[in-house]
Order: sequence, then C-alpha cells, then structure tokens
Amino acid sequence: MKEAFRHIYGASPDGIWAAPGRVNLIGEHTDYNDGFALPIAIPQNTLVAARRREDGRLRLHSHQGDGPVIDLDVDDLTPGAVTTWGAYPAGVVWALREAGHRIGGADLHVDSTVPTGAGLSSSAALECAVAFAYNDLYGLGLGAPALALISQRAENGFAGVPCGVMDQMASACCTTGAALHLDIRAGTHEQVPFAPESEGLCLLVIDTGVKHDLGDGAYAALRAGCERAARLLGVAALRDISPADLPSTARMLPARLVPLVQHIVTENARVTESISHLRAGRVAALGPILSAGHASLRDDFRISCDESDLVVDTALAHGALGARMTGGGFGGSVIVLVDEGRAQALGAAVTAAFRSAGYLAPHLFAVSPASGARRIE
Ligand code: ADP
Ligand code: MG
Repeated sequence: MKEAFRHIYGASPDGIWAAPGRVNLIGEHTDYNDGFALPIAIPQNTLVAARRREDGRLRLHSHQGDGPVIDLDVDDLTPGAVTTWGAYPAGVVWALREAGHRIGGADLHVDSTVPTGAGLSSSAALECAVAFAYNDLYGLGLGAPALALISQRAENGFAGVPCGVMDQMASACCTTGAALHLDIRAGTHEQVPFAPESEGLCLLVIDTGVKHDLGDGAYAALRAGCERAARLLGVAALRDISPADLPSTARMLPARLVPLVQHIVTENARVTESISHLRAGRVAALGPILSAGHASLRDDFRISCDESDLVVDTALAHGALGARMTGGGFGGSVIVLVDEGRAQALGAAVTAAFRSAGYLAPHLFAVSPASGARRIE
C-alpha cells in the first residue's frame, strides 16, 4: 500500500485504515423497516492509505478502479457531481462536511480483497475505510456507529443508493468471534458470540458470480413497497407488525404488498430466534432458520435468482444444515452452514452443479467472524 501510494502521489501516506466486507447471517431487508439484523465481518478488507492535504483537494485512486486519479475540490462536492466509483469515498467526505465537521482534503489510495457486487458489501467497506481514515486525519473523535451513519449518508445522499444502515454498521462495528445484533430502531448493537468451529461446523460463502446492481431501481421499489405497506397498516414501520398480526394485515393490503410484509415480519422473528440459539450455544440450530430465510426471500420477497437457488438446493442435498442467499439480492453470494467434514464435498457438488447448468464456476471460501474497521498503520 505504501509503495503504491508513493508511486501515485509522490509522498508517504499518514496511515493505513482497513474496513471489512460482511455477510449477514439473517435479517435481510429488515434494516430499512426499523428491524433486526445479524451480520458478521468477513476477513476480506478494503484498505485505504491516506494523507491529509491542506489545499482542499481530494484525490482518489483505487487499484480496482482501473482509471486515473480522480481530482476533486472538497468545497465543490455535490450529489451527482461524481458518477464513478469515486462517489463512495467522495460521498463520505461530503457527508462529513454536511454534518458540520471541519474537514479538508486528502490523497487516498484504495486496494481491496472484498469482491465488488458480490453481496459482500464492498461499497460499505470502502465508505467505512475512508470514514475511519478521515476521522483520524482530522481528529474528529467520532465513534464507530457515528462513522457508520456518515457512510450510509454517503451511499444514500451522494452515491444515490437508498440502502439501510446494516452494511455500514457491520463493517464499522463487528468484532472477531461475534455476530452483531443490530436493532435499527433502538439504534443499538450488541456482540453475540458466534463460533461455528466450536461445534465442528463451518460457514461457507459461495459467490455465484451473478452481479447485482442495487442502483437499478429494484431495491428502491422494494423499499417503497415496504414503506407503503406500513403506511396502509397505520404503523411507523413493518417492525411494528408481529407474526400473529399477519392474517389480519393481509386483508388490509393490496395483494402485491402482502408477501413483502410476510417476509419482513417473519424475518425479524428469525433474527430474534437465531440470537436465542447463539446465546444458548446452539449454532447448528441456525441451519433451518437460514433455509427458511432463503425460502422467504425466494418466494415472498422474490429477490433470489436461479444461480442462488441452485447453490442452496445443492448444498441442502449434500448435507448442509442450512443455506441462504445473503445481501440485497438478485445474485451475489450464498452462505452455507455445514459440518467441517462435509464442506469440501459440498463445495465440489455445487461447482459440478454449476458446470452442468452451464454457469461460470462459483467462488467458494470459508469465513469466521473477523474484525471491524480499524487503523492498521
Ligand atoms: P457490494 O457492496 O455488494 O459489493 P455495490 O453495488 O453496493 O455492491 O457496490 C459496488 C461498487 O462499489 C463498485 O461498483 C464500485 O463502484 C465501488 N467499490 C467497491 N469497492 C471498490 C474498490 N476497492 N475500488 C473502487 N470501487 C469500489
Ligand atoms: Mg453495497
């Protein structure tokens, strides 16, 4: 990172910051419904080498961005002004300024092992790494949750993606060995020990290679549908509906909104149930909950795709305790909970199934809950 930074900017960075991608164990699309989620940070990180500048210029370069250095003026940052990948880091600087923080320019060089567009939240990793870097470069003294909110504001207000705050909270606040229980309405987060290996299990991530594009309007339409359902039901958010309310709410809604409500309400219950199992040291009990979560996303929320369904079905047929698509949907990655001894054969079966279906080979790796964003140099 230092070598590359010196090569690009002709000086040494002031420091290097890291922020991880995430997989969400359970609680999908619940964040913008004021509900619950349970992500873990993955070992893949986005690194940012950064150097403070006193002339108000913001220069951006990414090893993955594959273009020249983007050169911006911090005072000129306005939503819509940057349309490339640079919107994510520039958005963070814009969001800090909007929040009234006294910040100036910087030179930033980005390099990442988080696959982009794979449902592993490379966008939040990028935002959080930049937010943590700026926090230190300008001595802002903000804590991890505040930096997550700044990062979400960057993605919503500057990059134009109406995401909830789950990804940014995961990247900023997760810790090694634990899943992060998020209660979005309460604004609280709590570490819940998650150690599949202690039960001889492992959590596999299988990237289908199908690129989702959350900016394409589908995500916004789902969010709008959930918000409309809440209005029609006279509640602040779908968080306020309990599973017992479902039969009566169905009569109050247009047919197309009923399955959306069904998913959100049952998904929140799945998060709560998962947390009780983890607190009682029963990791294996998450298996059927994950699979039920996938069925809900596939049949009710309708955001799975053939490739993700094939991974889930093949995994379950080869001994997985549970499997589900993770992330915003329409492709991306699947998580699989499986006995360590069966993981290899299961992976081979998924790869073979993809070959038979004529799909490109999926990318597989095991993850354990890793550290959230931090300064590393
Ligand atoms: P996800 O967050 O699931 O990976 P998104 O569509 O939300 O998918 O974000 C992916 C986008 O984030 C990329 O298209 C790119 O614009 C930006 N991005 C993420 N990581 C990097 C990186 N290391 N360098 C440049 N841009 C990145
Ligand atoms: Mg993203």
